[in-house]
Amino acid sequence: MSNDDLFTRAKLSIPGGVNSPVRAFGSVGGTPRFLVKASGAMVTDADGTEYVDLVGSWGPAILGHAHRDVVRAVQDAAARGLSFGASTPAETELAELVKERVSALGVSPIEKLRLVSTGTEATMTAIRLARGFTGRDLLVKFAGHYHGHSDGLLAEAGSGLATLAMPASAGVPAAIAAQTLVLPYNDLDALRAVFAERGDQIAAVITEAAAANMGVLAPDRGFNAALHELAHEHGALVILDEVLTGFRVSSSGYWGLSLADGPLYTPDLFTFGKVIGGGMPLAALGGRADIMDYLAPQGPVYQAGTLSGNPVAVAAGLATLERATPAVYERLDEASAVLSEAVSDALSREGVAHVVQRAGNLFSFVFAEERPRNYAEAQAQESWRYAPFFHAMLHGGVSLPPSVFEAWFVSAAHDERILSRIIEALPAAARAAAS
Ligand code: PLP
Repeated sequence: MSNDDLFTRAKLSIPGGVNSPVRAFGSVGGTPRFLVKASGAMVTDADGTEYVDLVGSWGPAILGHAHRDVVRAVQDAAARGLSFGASTPAETELAELVKERVSALGVSPIEKLRLVSTGTEATMTAIRLARGFTGRDLLVKFAGHYHGHSDGLLAEAGSGLATLAMPASAGVPAAIAAQTLVLPYNDLDALRAVFAERGDQIAAVITEAAAANMGVLAPDRGFNAALHELAHEHGALVILDEVLTGFRVSSSGYWGLSLADGPLYTPDLFTFGKVIGGGMPLAALGGRADIMDYLAPQGPVYQAGTLSGNPVAVAAGLATLERATPAVYERLDEASAVLSEAVSDALSREGVAHVVQRAGNLFSFVFAEERPRNYAEAQAQESWRYAPFFHAMLHGGVSLPPSVFEAWFVSAAHDERILSRIIEALPAAARAAAS
């Protein structure tokens, strides 16, 4: 069956034909590709067409798709049992590995870790925990940051809501939305003002370690540290959301990376997803032991999950993290530098105004003269240039994220040969963006 036929059929049984909105190609138009196989840097659709993949399952595929050792670990784990609903030795191994990896300048901020199944669950639980621990209700988030789809986090969120230009979701009770205060990113004055006014009611500030769901938009130098200082002065916690950046931009996430050339800051809670599960449904929250011990069964904040710490997912996560060596991060950095420069050159040759946005090896492009610093500025770009660019790349055999508001993901399998294939497709795409 062709992609067109599959999409028509899917729409009869699945809302919008997809199980996650951005997959529908809504903002770029055309028919989404139905994938049947992925290996290394390549994906294959139902028509048998191969594409170089720069979506990487939206982050997890750091080693490339279907890495032999990861697949073997999954097969071995599956053969021992798909799910026990009981503790396993591997869960503790993974928690220990995360504690060890997320460490920088002698600071190891993850003292305890709880495994869940999705990034949405991780942030939702971290917020409940912050509220339970502080006895306060209000949450501060930044416009354009995406933390999953739990009720209180859908106000001015990035990712699919940015793609669909939705300010919020229907179905969220006003009383719940009122507990979330949404501020412009990179604006310390706005943060100071809200703490001055309601500081004693704020349980936590949640922030993407580096925003990457309104396109990549890294925090200003020192912003994360200043945010921590302010929150802590007022007795509020900070939840650093590393679902997307964790174990991708460095082995200690964006937090570790940012300490290399900026002031030290210590988040109270972290959230992880994507790479930690190596492509299987696995995510986590972790941080200070005194806060984490507020979780049931030790503490009064409830969280549970039939599939939490699922043995097959944990095996995939462990196998992936064990193979995420310094050489892998070097490869990702290099591939990302070569590629982002090549795209930028191609756009410049066609006179297309753009800015390359980076956070470690994550990058994306903004069709604007100036670097945006927040969601309103990111939205003000000439986003209509992306659809023709995207389709020309697809025609040239390269699968990009189907939205200008998403990061591009390289993997360790993006070697010189693969990069050349992408670079060959660029001139036609840049011309398309220019017209
Ligand atoms: N937090 C961030 C920063 C994300 O990028 C995402 C997903 O893209 C989430 C949370 C939600 O994760 P999940 O899609 O696994 O629920």
